Amino acid sequence: MRKSIIAVFFLVLFCPLLQTCMQENDTMTPQEKWKIHDPDRPLPPVVDPGPAGPLLPAPSDAVILFDGTDLSGWVDGKGNTPRWKVENGYMEVVGKTGSILSGQEFGDCQLHVEWASPEEVKGESQGRGNSGVFLMNTYEVQVLDCYDNKTYADGMAAAVYGQYPPAVNACRPPGEWQSFDIIFVRPRFDEEGRVVSPARMTVFHNGVLVQHDVELLGPTAWKVREKYKAHSDRLPISFQDHGNPVRYRNIWIRDLEK
Ligand code: MG
Repeated sequence: MRKSIIAVFFLVLFCPLLQTCMQENDTMTPQEKWKIHDPDRPLPPVVDPGPAGPLLPAPSDAVILFDGTDLSGWVDGKGNTPRWKVENGYMEVVGKTGSILSGQEFGDCQLHVEWASPEEVKGESQGRGNSGVFLMNTYEVQVLDCYDNKTYADGMAAAVYGQYPPAVNACRPPGEWQSFDIIFVRPRFDEEGRVVSPARMTVFHNGVLVQHDVELLGPTAWKVREKYKAHSDRLPISFQDHGNPVRYRNIWIRDLEK
């Protein structure tokens, strides 16, 4: 009898506490629920986007960043001509030559990029077909061969790297052309450098909505959640050299601040 009274007493005492904890868990953002690159974060379901279509034509108000002929609009990290390969209408990452940056700078924009991971499958997880599309040279949409290649959810293809896994895995097989259509709203800072409004992104991967107006937590980074640092309103688009020979073609952008 005495034991039951004690049990009831503890139940009455702890139930509200437990409820509060559970409610808090429900209202937590995914970023609070999951550690960066958390291997336990659920992987998104696979969606077959269908076969690649023809090149998506650039609209008349777009700036052509790469038309398949040369890298004249691009520089490497030191401001020199990039040493990436250009052939058959695409550019290809040449490992250890560094990432490349567009000569022109952009803030809010709509960006179209086509990419292909190497047909010959090599490596696994983050070592397979890794590259990246950086908005403002700071905020990465991950490029990775995620076709039958398991990796942490916030590092998958079309993830906002380290922050948001894609809603679904819409990868085509290695070697096939894939597309990203990215709508990017840059962060706004006040005169003291404080964030007035964070960056936002919407991403379509092979025509499939995978990021819907997500609010970026800061610059994307490996293993750390970096805080925003005030930067200029326009910065280059950049593509990552992660050592894998990923290809890019048909890159165009619409400047939404003109
Ligand atoms: Mg990357």
